[in-house]
Amino acid sequence: MSIVNGLTSSIGKTPMIRINSLSEETGCEILGKAEFMNPGGSVKDRAALWMIEEAEKSGALKPGGTVVEGTAGNTGIGLAHVCNNRGYETIIYMPDNQSQEKVNLLRTLGAEVRVVPTVPYANDMNFQKQAGRFAATLENAIWANQFDNTANSLAHYESTGPEIWDQTNGGVDAFTCAVGTGGTLAGTSLYLKEQSANVKIVLADPMGSALYNWVTTGEATMTPGPSMTEGIGNSRVTQNLAPAKIDDAVQVDDQEMVDMVYRLLHQEGWFFGSSSGINLGAAVKIAKDLGPGHTVVTILCDGGSKYQSRLYNPEFLAERNLTIPQFAQQ
Ligand code: PMP
Repeated sequence: MSIVNGLTSSIGKTPMIRINSLSEETGCEILGKAEFMNPGGSVKDRAALWMIEEAEKSGALKPGGTVVEGTAGNTGIGLAHVCNNRGYETIIYMPDNQSQEKVNLLRTLGAEVRVVPTVPYANDMNFQKQAGRFAATLENAIWANQFDNTANSLAHYESTGPEIWDQTNGGVDAFTCAVGTGGTLAGTSLYLKEQSANVKIVLADPMGSALYNWVTTGEATMTPGPSMTEGIGNSRVTQNLAPAKIDDAVQVDDQEMVDMVYRLLHQEGWFFGSSSGINLGAAVKIAKDLGPGHTVVTILCDGGSKYQSRLYNPEFLAERNLTIPQFAQQ
């Protein structure tokens, strides 16, 4: 054990965790990168740190500046932590279909949160576009622009990818994760493919996203949805995602995701958010496809505590015709 120097140095270098029940079920090693152990509690801390450091290096962000972002939550949380640490203001635009826990948390962290109506990306009032326009009106401010700012995927090329390669001693057969901005999948895939062309990269997609079709047919057309997952799925191929090296895609529906997170909570004690459930559901499908003896790595994006009013709320699930596994019912 060694000492880590302050907040930003504690981002990344997360443990690689063997998920025992899934490994035993499949005969494969199902391994998860414990991104919920970052200081802001999610995989997005890495992107937040890299985007701020790139803006500092380019001179776009100077002492006392402001970081504006459109985010479903976790990027904002990561940015708020790093901005507090470096003395910047944080202003977050967020669509109104996100959990109240994330809004409350961002405000507690000191960010100014502007909740705006949920409209498609093509609409000028989309939360990302509003963030970009507002940042342009301020002095010494940046729009982090996580979807198309490739400092995001660079974070994963420079940190997540090398960590996965080291932690598996180069023994990773497949890597899978869901895509929001695509930063995690793109950066990690580019690094892993540079080490070995044999690492299979699989995009894990919730329903109601266009990315499964994009990978499997070349056309980013929407699949039936929506999904109750947060922070993942997309209707377009972002600049972060475009260069990703992807071999295949799998879909995981909401019921499979619910079964996964409740099973892991009640049988193993893990408390994960919905995207981790999608990722682990995909990892199991890939492991079954590859057969026993393979190592499949995925991302444990965040923990479950931000989702108590939705994923861990039986009434919310019932409204969506989702059932909690029998063994998890009180
Ligand atoms: N899981 C969660 C909980 C997230 O908040 C996000 C980012 N929105 C992702 C997964 C997807 O990560 P990325 O943006 O790197 O594709």
